[in-house]
Amino acid sequence: MSLPSQDSYDIVIIGAGPAGLSAGLHVVREKGISVLLIDKTEPWKNPVPCAEGVGKLGFEEAVPVKKEWIRQEILKARFHAPDSNTVAYVDNFGGYIIDRARMQSDIATELSEKGVECVFGTRVTRISEPQNCTFSRVITLPDNKKITARVIIDASGPTSCFCKTEKITWKPEDLEPALFVHVENISIEPNTIHIYAGSQVAPGGYAWVFPRGENAANIGIVLGKKSRGTHTLSDLLSNFLSTQYPDVHVIRRFAGPIPCNFKKGAISLPGLLKTGDAASTINPISRAGISEALLSGGLAGDHALKMLKTSNLRNLKKICKSYEHEWNIRRGNRHNKLARVKNSMLSVPDEDYNHGAALLSKIPLEKMTMSKIFKASLGRFPRLVWALRHLM
Ligand SMILES: Cc1cc2nc3c(=O)[nH]c(=O)nc-3n(C[C@H](O)[C@H](O)[C@H](O)COP(=O)(O)OP(=O)(O)OC[C@H]3O[C@@H](n4cnc5c(N)ncnc54)[C@H](O)[C@@H]3O)c2cc1C
Repeated sequence: MSLPSQDSYDIVIIGAGPAGLSAGLHVVREKGISVLLIDKTEPWKNPVPCAEGVGKLGFEEAVPVKKEWIRQEILKARFHAPDSNTVAYVDNFGGYIIDRARMQSDIATELSEKGVECVFGTRVTRISEPQNCTFSRVITLPDNKKITARVIIDASGPTSCFCKTEKITWKPEDLEPALFVHVENISIEPNTIHIYAGSQVAPGGYAWVFPRGENAANIGIVLGKKSRGTHTLSDLLSNFLSTQYPDVHVIRRFAGPIPCNFKKGAISLPGLLKTGDAASTINPISRAGISEALLSGGLAGDHALKMLKTSNLRNLKKICKSYEHEWNIRRGNRHNKLARVKNSMLSVPDEDYNHGAALLSKIPLEKMTMSKIFKASLGRFPRLVWALRHLM
Protein backbone atom coordinates (compact mmCIF):
# COMPACT_ATOMS: atom_id res chain seq x y z
CA MET A 1 0.00 0.00 0.00
CA SER A 2 1.38 3.43 -0.92
CA LEU A 3 0.31 6.61 0.81
CA PRO A 4 -0.12 10.17 -0.47
CA SER A 5 2.96 12.37 -0.09
CA GLN A 6 1.11 15.42 1.30
CA ASP A 7 -1.32 15.99 4.16
CA SER A 8 -3.60 18.25 2.17
CA TYR A 9 -4.69 18.77 -1.44
CA ASP A 10 -6.86 21.21 -3.33
CA ILE A 11 -8.75 18.38 -5.04
CA VAL A 12 -8.89 14.68 -4.19
CA ILE A 13 -10.49 12.32 -6.71
CA ILE A 14 -11.54 8.96 -5.26
CA GLY A 15 -11.69 6.25 -7.93
CA ALA A 16 -9.71 5.79 -11.16
CA GLY A 17 -12.64 4.47 -13.20
CA PRO A 18 -13.98 6.38 -16.22
CA ALA A 19 -15.65 9.04 -14.01
CA GLY A 20 -12.64 9.81 -11.81
CA LEU A 21 -10.19 9.81 -14.73
CA SER A 22 -12.37 12.10 -16.80
CA ALA A 23 -12.70 14.44 -13.82
CA GLY A 24 -8.89 14.40 -13.68
CA LEU A 25 -8.61 15.38 -17.36
CA HIS A 26 -10.74 18.44 -16.65
CA VAL A 27 -9.07 19.56 -13.40
CA VAL A 28 -5.55 19.44 -14.90
CA ARG A 29 -6.60 22.29 -17.19
CA GLU A 30 -6.03 24.56 -14.17
CA LYS A 31 -2.35 25.14 -13.42
CA GLY A 32 -0.85 25.39 -9.94
CA ILE A 33 -3.32 23.31 -7.92
CA SER A 34 -2.56 20.11 -6.03
CA VAL A 35 -4.56 17.07 -7.13
CA LEU A 36 -4.58 13.53 -5.73
CA LEU A 37 -6.15 10.58 -7.58
CA ILE A 38 -6.56 7.60 -5.27
CA ASP A 39 -7.94 4.11 -5.95
CA LYS A 40 -8.07 0.97 -3.82
CA THR A 41 -6.87 -1.02 -6.86
CA GLU A 42 -4.95 -0.35 -10.05
CA PRO A 43 -8.07 -1.00 -12.14
CA TRP A 44 -6.32 -1.87 -15.42
CA LYS A 45 -4.03 -4.49 -13.85
CA ASN A 46 -6.82 -7.07 -14.04
CA PRO A 47 -9.48 -7.46 -16.74
CA VAL A 48 -12.16 -4.84 -16.09
CA PRO A 49 -15.53 -6.47 -15.26
CA CYS A 50 -17.41 -4.72 -18.05
CA ALA A 51 -18.86 -5.67 -21.44
CA GLU A 52 -17.11 -2.60 -22.91
CA GLY A 53 -19.83 -1.63 -25.38
CA VAL A 54 -20.34 2.11 -26.05
CA GLY A 55 -22.32 4.20 -28.53
CA LYS A 56 -19.91 6.13 -30.76
CA LEU A 57 -21.65 9.47 -30.39
CA GLY A 58 -21.81 9.56 -26.58
CA PHE A 59 -18.27 8.22 -26.19
CA GLU A 60 -16.73 10.74 -28.55
CA GLU A 61 -18.71 13.54 -26.90
CA ALA A 62 -17.31 12.58 -23.49
CA VAL A 63 -13.58 12.06 -24.08
CA PRO A 64 -10.95 12.59 -26.80
CA VAL A 65 -10.86 9.00 -28.10
CA LYS A 66 -7.58 7.27 -29.09
CA LYS A 67 -7.70 4.60 -31.77
CA GLU A 68 -5.78 2.19 -29.49
CA TRP A 69 -8.83 2.07 -27.20
CA ILE A 70 -11.08 0.58 -29.87
CA ARG A 71 -11.26 -3.21 -30.03
CA GLN A 72 -13.78 -3.08 -32.84
CA GLU A 73 -16.45 -1.02 -34.46
CA ILE A 74 -20.10 -2.01 -34.14
CA LEU A 75 -22.48 -1.27 -37.00
CA LYS A 76 -25.48 -3.43 -36.25
CA ALA A 77 -27.60 -4.62 -33.33
CA ARG A 78 -29.69 -7.77 -33.52
CA PHE A 79 -32.60 -8.17 -31.09
CA HIS A 80 -33.74 -11.71 -30.32
CA ALA A 81 -37.37 -12.00 -29.23
CA PRO A 82 -38.37 -14.65 -26.67
CA ASP A 83 -39.65 -16.92 -29.50
CA SER A 84 -36.25 -16.62 -31.28
CA ASN A 85 -37.48 -14.33 -34.04
CA THR A 86 -34.83 -11.67 -34.68
CA VAL A 87 -34.77 -8.05 -35.81
CA ALA A 88 -31.60 -6.31 -37.01
CA TYR A 89 -31.05 -2.58 -36.72
CA VAL A 90 -28.26 -0.49 -38.24
CA ASP A 91 -27.62 2.65 -36.24
CA ASN A 92 -26.53 5.75 -38.18
CA PHE A 93 -23.66 6.35 -35.79
CA GLY A 94 -22.79 2.87 -34.58
CA GLY A 95 -20.70 1.98 -31.58
CA TYR A 96 -17.47 0.49 -30.33
CA ILE A 97 -16.30 -2.35 -28.19
CA ILE A 98 -13.50 -0.64 -26.32
CA ASP A 99 -10.45 -1.76 -24.37
CA ARG A 100 -11.27 -0.16 -21.04
CA ALA A 101 -8.07 -1.23 -19.33
CA ARG A 102 -6.04 0.47 -22.07
CA MET A 103 -8.20 3.60 -21.95
CA GLN A 104 -8.01 3.92 -18.16
CA SER A 105 -4.29 3.21 -17.99
CA ASP A 106 -3.55 5.76 -20.78
CA ILE A 107 -5.57 8.48 -19.06
CA ALA A 108 -3.94 7.76 -15.67
CA THR A 109 -0.50 8.07 -17.29
CA GLU A 110 -1.51 11.37 -18.87
CA LEU A 111 -2.75 12.67 -15.51
CA SER A 112 0.45 11.65 -13.79
CA GLU A 113 2.51 13.40 -16.50
CA LYS A 114 0.42 16.52 -15.96
CA GLY A 115 1.20 16.65 -12.25
CA VAL A 116 -1.60 14.66 -10.60
CA GLU A 117 -0.33 12.50 -7.74
CA CYS A 118 -1.67 8.98 -8.38
CA VAL A 119 -1.89 6.55 -5.47
CA PHE A 120 -3.12 3.02 -6.21
CA GLY A 121 -3.82 0.12 -3.89
CA THR A 122 -5.08 2.36 -1.07
CA ARG A 123 -8.69 2.37 0.06
CA VAL A 124 -10.47 5.46 1.34
CA THR A 125 -12.38 4.37 4.43
CA ARG A 126 -14.22 7.55 5.36
CA ILE A 127 -14.97 11.10 4.28
CA SER A 128 -15.72 13.46 7.17
CA GLU A 129 -18.39 16.13 7.22
CA PRO A 130 -17.09 19.64 6.36
CA GLN A 131 -14.53 20.75 8.94
CA ASN A 132 -14.93 24.50 9.08
CA CYS A 133 -16.12 27.50 7.11
CA THR A 134 -13.81 26.54 4.21
CA PHE A 135 -15.87 23.34 3.72
CA SER A 136 -12.73 21.22 3.46
CA ARG A 137 -13.12 17.59 4.52
CA VAL A 138 -10.87 14.99 6.05
CA ILE A 139 -10.34 11.70 4.21
CA THR A 140 -9.38 8.66 6.27
CA LEU A 141 -7.06 6.02 4.81
CA PRO A 142 -5.88 2.73 6.31
CA ASP A 143 -3.76 2.91 9.50
CA ASN A 144 -5.78 5.99 10.42
CA LYS A 145 -3.78 8.17 8.03
CA LYS A 146 -5.72 11.39 7.37
CA ILE A 147 -5.52 13.87 4.52
CA THR A 148 -7.50 17.05 3.94
CA ALA A 149 -9.15 18.09 0.68
CA ARG A 150 -10.74 21.42 -0.22
CA VAL A 151 -12.88 19.63 -2.80
CA ILE A 152 -13.56 15.89 -3.10
CA ILE A 153 -14.76 14.20 -6.27
CA ASP A 154 -16.32 10.90 -5.23
CA ALA A 155 -16.01 8.63 -8.29
CA SER A 156 -15.85 5.44 -6.26
CA GLY A 157 -18.48 3.48 -8.18
CA PRO A 158 -21.77 1.94 -7.21
CA THR A 159 -21.28 0.57 -3.71
CA SER A 160 -19.02 2.72 -1.59
CA CYS A 161 -21.80 4.83 0.01
CA PHE A 162 -19.74 7.75 1.34
CA CYS A 163 -21.39 10.60 3.28
CA LYS A 164 -24.59 8.77 4.09
CA THR A 165 -25.17 10.93 7.16
CA GLU A 166 -25.53 13.99 4.91
CA LYS A 167 -28.26 15.05 2.53
CA ILE A 168 -26.76 13.40 -0.50
CA THR A 169 -27.47 10.40 -2.71
CA TRP A 170 -25.58 7.39 -1.44
CA LYS A 171 -27.62 4.22 -1.75
CA PRO A 172 -28.61 2.77 -5.12
CA GLU A 173 -32.31 2.00 -5.20
CA ASP A 174 -32.17 -0.26 -8.23
CA LEU A 175 -28.94 -2.26 -7.98
CA GLU A 176 -29.11 -4.97 -10.62
CA PRO A 177 -26.81 -7.98 -10.55
CA ALA A 178 -24.94 -8.87 -13.75
CA LEU A 179 -22.84 -11.89 -14.62
CA PHE A 180 -20.82 -12.44 -17.76
CA VAL A 181 -18.14 -14.59 -19.30
CA HIS A 182 -15.38 -14.15 -21.85
CA VAL A 183 -15.68 -16.98 -24.35
CA GLU A 184 -13.79 -18.37 -27.31
CA ASN A 185 -14.81 -20.68 -30.14
CA ILE A 186 -17.80 -18.64 -31.15
CA SER A 187 -18.71 -17.61 -34.65
CA ILE A 188 -20.56 -14.28 -34.80
CA GLU A 189 -20.34 -11.32 -37.13
CA PRO A 190 -17.59 -9.05 -35.76
CA ASN A 191 -19.57 -5.84 -36.24
CA THR A 192 -22.83 -6.95 -34.59
CA ILE A 193 -24.03 -7.01 -31.02
CA HIS A 194 -26.85 -9.32 -29.95
CA ILE A 195 -29.49 -8.58 -27.32
CA TYR A 196 -31.88 -11.27 -26.06
CA ALA A 197 -35.08 -10.45 -24.20
CA GLY A 198 -37.64 -12.62 -22.44
CA SER A 199 -38.83 -13.85 -19.10
CA GLN A 200 -37.00 -17.16 -19.53
CA VAL A 201 -33.69 -15.65 -20.62
CA ALA A 202 -33.35 -12.67 -18.29
CA PRO A 203 -36.46 -11.63 -16.35
CA GLY A 204 -36.59 -7.84 -16.01
CA GLY A 205 -33.25 -7.53 -17.82
CA TYR A 206 -31.58 -8.89 -20.93
CA ALA A 207 -28.80 -11.16 -22.16
CA TRP A 208 -26.06 -9.80 -24.39
CA VAL A 209 -23.45 -11.20 -26.76
CA PHE A 210 -20.77 -8.67 -27.73
CA PRO A 211 -17.93 -9.66 -30.12
CA ARG A 212 -14.45 -9.42 -28.60
CA GLY A 213 -11.90 -10.13 -31.33
CA GLU A 214 -11.68 -13.14 -33.61
CA ASN A 215 -13.91 -16.04 -32.58
CA ALA A 216 -14.29 -14.50 -29.13
CA ALA A 217 -17.09 -12.67 -27.32
CA ASN A 218 -18.35 -11.57 -23.98
CA ILE A 219 -21.71 -13.02 -23.06
CA GLY A 220 -23.69 -11.94 -20.05
CA ILE A 221 -26.99 -11.41 -18.34
CA VAL A 222 -28.32 -8.53 -16.29
CA LEU A 223 -31.28 -9.40 -14.11
CA GLY A 224 -34.09 -7.03 -13.10
CA LYS A 225 -33.99 -6.24 -9.38
CA LYS A 226 -37.41 -7.75 -8.73
CA SER A 227 -36.30 -11.14 -10.10
CA ARG A 228 -33.31 -11.43 -7.78
CA GLY A 229 -35.00 -13.64 -5.23
CA THR A 230 -36.66 -15.94 -7.75
CA HIS A 231 -33.84 -16.56 -10.25
CA THR A 232 -30.17 -17.37 -9.97
CA LEU A 233 -27.95 -15.53 -12.41
CA SER A 234 -25.47 -18.37 -12.79
CA ASP A 235 -28.29 -20.82 -13.65
CA LEU A 236 -29.74 -18.38 -16.18
CA LEU A 237 -26.35 -17.83 -17.80
CA SER A 238 -25.52 -21.56 -17.92
CA ASN A 239 -28.90 -22.24 -19.46
CA PHE A 240 -28.45 -19.44 -21.99
CA LEU A 241 -25.00 -20.68 -23.01
CA SER A 242 -26.06 -24.30 -23.33
CA THR A 243 -29.12 -23.49 -25.43
CA GLN A 244 -27.77 -20.66 -27.61
CA TYR A 245 -23.99 -21.17 -27.72
CA PRO A 246 -23.28 -24.76 -26.67
CA ASP A 247 -19.80 -24.94 -28.31
CA VAL A 248 -18.12 -21.96 -26.63
CA HIS A 249 -15.17 -22.29 -24.25
CA VAL A 250 -15.53 -20.12 -21.18
CA ILE A 251 -12.25 -18.31 -20.38
CA ARG A 252 -13.19 -16.07 -17.43
CA ARG A 253 -16.23 -15.19 -15.35
CA PHE A 254 -17.11 -11.77 -13.95
CA ALA A 255 -19.87 -10.42 -11.77
CA GLY A 256 -20.81 -6.88 -10.82
CA PRO A 257 -23.69 -4.68 -9.74
CA ILE A 258 -25.26 -2.08 -12.03
CA PRO A 259 -26.86 0.87 -10.19
CA CYS A 260 -29.81 1.77 -12.38
CA ASN A 261 -31.44 4.52 -10.37
CA PHE A 262 -30.80 6.24 -7.07
CA LYS A 263 -33.50 7.60 -4.85
CA LYS A 264 -33.96 11.23 -5.74
CA GLY A 265 -31.42 13.31 -3.90
CA ALA A 266 -28.55 15.74 -4.30
CA ILE A 267 -25.38 14.54 -6.03
CA SER A 268 -23.23 17.34 -4.66
CA LEU A 269 -22.66 19.37 -1.50
CA PRO A 270 -20.28 22.26 -0.86
CA GLY A 271 -16.83 20.71 -1.27
CA LEU A 272 -18.13 17.31 -2.49
CA LEU A 273 -19.22 16.14 -5.94
CA LYS A 274 -20.43 12.62 -6.70
CA THR A 275 -19.99 11.39 -10.24
CA GLY A 276 -20.34 8.29 -12.44
CA ASP A 277 -21.88 5.20 -10.86
CA ALA A 278 -21.52 6.85 -7.42
CA ALA A 279 -24.10 9.37 -8.68
CA SER A 280 -26.08 6.73 -10.61
CA THR A 281 -25.39 8.14 -14.04
CA ILE A 282 -26.09 4.82 -15.81
CA ASN A 283 -28.72 4.70 -18.54
CA PRO A 284 -31.40 2.64 -16.76
CA ILE A 285 -32.60 0.82 -19.87
CA SER A 286 -29.41 0.04 -21.81
CA ARG A 287 -27.45 -0.18 -18.50
CA ALA A 288 -24.57 1.57 -20.28
CA GLY A 289 -22.49 3.70 -17.94
CA ILE A 290 -19.02 4.25 -19.44
CA SER A 291 -19.71 7.31 -21.61
CA GLU A 292 -22.12 8.60 -18.96
CA ALA A 293 -19.41 8.30 -16.28
CA LEU A 294 -16.89 10.04 -18.54
CA LEU A 295 -19.34 12.84 -19.25
CA SER A 296 -20.40 13.37 -15.65
CA GLY A 297 -16.77 13.11 -14.50
CA GLY A 298 -15.89 15.98 -16.82
CA LEU A 299 -18.72 18.07 -15.39
CA ALA A 300 -17.61 17.21 -11.85
CA GLY A 301 -14.04 18.27 -12.70
CA ASP A 302 -15.22 21.62 -14.12
CA HIS A 303 -17.36 22.31 -11.04
CA ALA A 304 -14.62 21.25 -8.63
CA LEU A 305 -12.44 23.99 -10.14
CA LYS A 306 -15.26 26.48 -9.61
CA MET A 307 -15.61 25.38 -5.98
CA LEU A 308 -11.90 26.04 -5.39
CA LYS A 309 -12.43 29.69 -6.22
CA THR A 310 -14.87 30.42 -3.38
CA SER A 311 -15.53 29.55 0.23
CA ASN A 312 -18.80 31.46 0.36
CA LEU A 313 -21.62 29.06 1.21
CA ARG A 314 -24.14 30.72 -1.09
CA ASN A 315 -21.77 30.55 -4.04
CA LEU A 316 -20.88 26.95 -3.26
CA LYS A 317 -24.55 26.01 -3.21
CA LYS A 318 -25.03 27.73 -6.58
CA ILE A 319 -22.16 25.66 -8.00
CA CYS A 320 -23.83 22.47 -6.69
CA LYS A 321 -27.06 23.50 -8.42
CA SER A 322 -25.25 24.29 -11.65
CA TYR A 323 -23.52 20.85 -11.59
CA GLU A 324 -26.80 19.02 -11.13
CA HIS A 325 -28.56 21.21 -13.68
CA GLU A 326 -25.91 20.55 -16.33
CA TRP A 327 -26.04 16.82 -15.70
CA ASN A 328 -29.83 16.84 -15.88
CA ILE A 329 -29.78 18.74 -19.16
CA ARG A 330 -27.16 16.45 -20.71
CA ARG A 331 -28.54 13.07 -19.51
CA GLY A 332 -30.23 13.10 -16.08
CA ASN A 333 -33.73 14.20 -17.12
CA ARG A 334 -33.83 11.61 -19.87
CA HIS A 335 -32.57 8.89 -17.53
CA ASN A 336 -35.35 9.69 -15.07
CA LYS A 337 -37.90 9.21 -17.85
CA LEU A 338 -36.23 5.99 -18.96
CA ALA A 339 -36.28 4.68 -15.39
CA ARG A 340 -40.06 5.08 -15.37
CA VAL A 341 -40.36 3.42 -18.80
CA LYS A 342 -38.31 0.52 -17.52
CA ASN A 343 -40.61 -0.03 -14.58
CA SER A 344 -43.67 -0.04 -16.86
CA MET A 345 -42.02 -2.40 -19.35
CA LEU A 346 -41.69 -5.05 -16.66
CA SER A 347 -45.38 -5.76 -17.12
CA VAL A 348 -45.18 -6.15 -20.93
CA PRO A 349 -45.54 -9.88 -21.63
CA ASP A 350 -43.23 -11.94 -23.86
CA GLU A 351 -45.99 -12.34 -26.45
CA ASP A 352 -45.94 -8.59 -27.19
CA TYR A 353 -42.22 -8.71 -27.92
CA ASN A 354 -42.77 -11.79 -30.10
CA HIS A 355 -45.49 -10.04 -32.11
CA GLY A 356 -43.39 -6.89 -32.41
CA ALA A 357 -40.34 -8.83 -33.63
CA ALA A 358 -42.42 -10.86 -36.10
CA LEU A 359 -43.76 -7.65 -37.58
CA LEU A 360 -40.44 -5.83 -37.71
CA SER A 361 -38.52 -8.79 -39.12
CA LYS A 362 -40.48 -8.28 -42.36
CA ILE A 363 -38.95 -4.81 -42.87
CA PRO A 364 -35.70 -5.04 -44.87
CA LEU A 365 -32.60 -4.00 -42.89
CA GLU A 366 -31.82 -1.03 -45.15
CA LYS A 367 -35.34 0.36 -44.59
CA MET A 368 -35.38 -0.10 -40.81
CA THR A 369 -35.44 3.22 -38.99
CA MET A 370 -36.26 4.05 -35.38
CA SER A 371 -39.49 5.73 -36.43
CA LYS A 372 -40.51 2.59 -38.37
CA ILE A 373 -39.82 0.51 -35.28
CA PHE A 374 -42.02 2.77 -33.18
CA LYS A 375 -44.80 3.00 -35.76
CA ALA A 376 -44.87 -0.71 -36.50
CA SER A 377 -44.82 -1.96 -32.95
CA LEU A 378 -46.48 0.72 -30.90
CA GLY A 379 -49.62 1.07 -32.98
CA ARG A 380 -50.39 -2.61 -32.52
CA PHE A 381 -49.46 -3.16 -28.92
CA PRO A 382 -51.13 -0.80 -26.49
CA ARG A 383 -49.21 -2.26 -23.54
CA LEU A 384 -45.94 -1.18 -25.16
CA VAL A 385 -47.38 2.25 -25.89
CA TRP A 386 -48.46 2.51 -22.27
CA ALA A 387 -45.03 1.45 -21.07
CA LEU A 388 -43.40 4.11 -23.23
CA ARG A 389 -45.76 6.91 -22.21
CA HIS A 390 -43.11 8.52 -20.00
CA LEU A 391 -41.12 9.40 -23.11
CA MET A 392 -43.96 11.41 -24.63
C1 LIG B 1 -21.14 -6.66 -15.65
C2 LIG B 1 -21.16 -5.25 -16.12
C3 LIG B 1 -21.11 -4.97 -17.48
C4 LIG B 1 -21.14 -3.66 -17.93
N1 LIG B 1 -21.07 -3.41 -19.27
C5 LIG B 1 -21.12 -2.14 -19.73
C6 LIG B 1 -21.04 -1.86 -21.13
O1 LIG B 1 -20.93 -2.75 -21.96
N2 LIG B 1 -21.10 -0.57 -21.51
C7 LIG B 1 -21.22 0.47 -20.63
O2 LIG B 1 -21.27 1.64 -21.06
N3 LIG B 1 -21.28 0.23 -19.29
C8 LIG B 1 -21.22 -1.04 -18.83
N4 LIG B 1 -21.27 -1.29 -17.48
C9 LIG B 1 -21.36 -0.15 -16.56
C10 LIG B 1 -19.98 0.49 -16.38
O3 LIG B 1 -19.03 -0.49 -16.05
C11 LIG B 1 -20.03 1.53 -15.26
O4 LIG B 1 -21.13 2.38 -15.46
C12 LIG B 1 -18.74 2.37 -15.24
O5 LIG B 1 -17.65 1.56 -14.91
C13 LIG B 1 -18.87 3.49 -14.20
O6 LIG B 1 -17.64 4.15 -14.07
P1 LIG B 1 -17.24 4.82 -12.68
O7 LIG B 1 -15.93 5.48 -12.92
O8 LIG B 1 -18.35 5.62 -12.16
O9 LIG B 1 -17.08 3.61 -11.65
P2 LIG B 1 -16.09 2.38 -11.63
O10 LIG B 1 -15.67 2.01 -12.99
O11 LIG B 1 -16.75 1.36 -10.77
O12 LIG B 1 -14.78 2.94 -10.88
C14 LIG B 1 -14.79 3.18 -9.51
C15 LIG B 1 -13.37 3.08 -9.00
O13 LIG B 1 -13.36 3.46 -7.61
C16 LIG B 1 -12.51 2.60 -6.89
N5 LIG B 1 -12.97 2.60 -5.50
C17 LIG B 1 -14.16 2.14 -5.03
N6 LIG B 1 -14.25 2.31 -3.70
C18 LIG B 1 -13.08 2.90 -3.32
C19 LIG B 1 -12.56 3.33 -2.06
N7 LIG B 1 -13.26 3.18 -0.94
N8 LIG B 1 -11.33 3.87 -2.03
C20 LIG B 1 -10.59 4.02 -3.18
N9 LIG B 1 -11.04 3.62 -4.40
C21 LIG B 1 -12.26 3.08 -4.47
C22 LIG B 1 -12.68 1.25 -7.59
O14 LIG B 1 -11.53 0.43 -7.37
C23 LIG B 1 -12.82 1.66 -9.05
O15 LIG B 1 -11.60 1.64 -9.76
C24 LIG B 1 -21.23 -2.59 -17.00
C25 LIG B 1 -21.27 -2.87 -15.63
C26 LIG B 1 -21.23 -4.18 -15.19
C27 LIG B 1 -21.27 -4.46 -13.71
